[in-house]
Amino acid sequence: MFKKILVAADGSDHAKVAVDTAADLAQQSGAELHVVHVPEVQMTAIAVGASAVEVPVNEEETERAAQEVLTAAKAQADEAGAKVTSSELRHGDPALAILDRAKEVGADLLVMGRRGRGPLQGLLLGSVSQKLSAHADSAVLTVK
Ligand code: ATP
Ligand code: MG
Repeated sequence: MFKKILVAADGSDHAKVAVDTAADLAQQSGAELHVVHVPEVQMTAIAVGASAVEVPVNEEETERAAQEVLTAAKAQADEAGAKVTSSELRHGDPALAILDRAKEVGADLLVMGRRGRGPLQGLLLGSVSQKLSAHADSAVLTVK
């Protein structure tokens, strides 16, 4: 059975299903559950003359939103009865940062959603999911 499960949370409904699944698995098998979130630069529209342009949301706001995503994911896993051993923010390229964290905790299972917060309709698998499936050292569970 799995002993150390890492779940990647990005605040999307897809990832919420992944957190529930990971928490259930951890709870049933007595595994440690580790939660990781990597803030992604968020854009917002500002008015410039008669039109609008997209600019990055300031760093503080991004960090605050990221902390909220992490806190919510941890609370969700706690509620499902999992033993949440760590919940951490990591920075950089999301897939690489998640893979690094998986190595650090010695995860034997990585759980994630098939899609995330990305805006592209119709994609079956997001780019982070694809990279994690391809490069993880552990087993990977991609939750629909
Ligand atoms: P894309 O980002 O390529 O536009 P997408 O957002 O729909 O597409 P992914 O980003 O691959 O899809 O998200 C799939 C899953 O990967 C999410 O449900 C979540 O489990 C995990 N994930 C994605 N981004 C992050 C992140 N920044 N931090 C933690 N987990 C993430
Ligand atoms: Mg994404």
